[in-house]
Amino acid sequence: MPKCLYCRKAEASWVYMPSGEYACDDCVPRKCSCNMEPIDGDWENENESNWDYIKDEKGKHLPCCEWEQITIE
Ligand SMILES: [Zn+2]
Ligand SMILES: [Zn+2]
Repeated sequence: MPKCLYCRKAEASWVYMPSGEYACDDCVPRKCSCNMEPIDGDWENENESNWDYIKDEKGKHLPCCEWEQITIE
């Protein structure tokens, strides 16, 4: 498994597609404007306070959509 490029200790669980950079779950940059959803479920609502960063099922914010999770088979 490749190591995280940020802490250089943990095993990477994310890869940044454009550059092939690796990051572990702790170091991957989270929160991105491409990963936001409307709080009230209305995608037409452009009010800034209505938008929040999407979280995964563990309550962590998602990294940019260009980070791909490495799945171990
Ligand atoms: Zn790391
Ligand atoms: Zn993004």
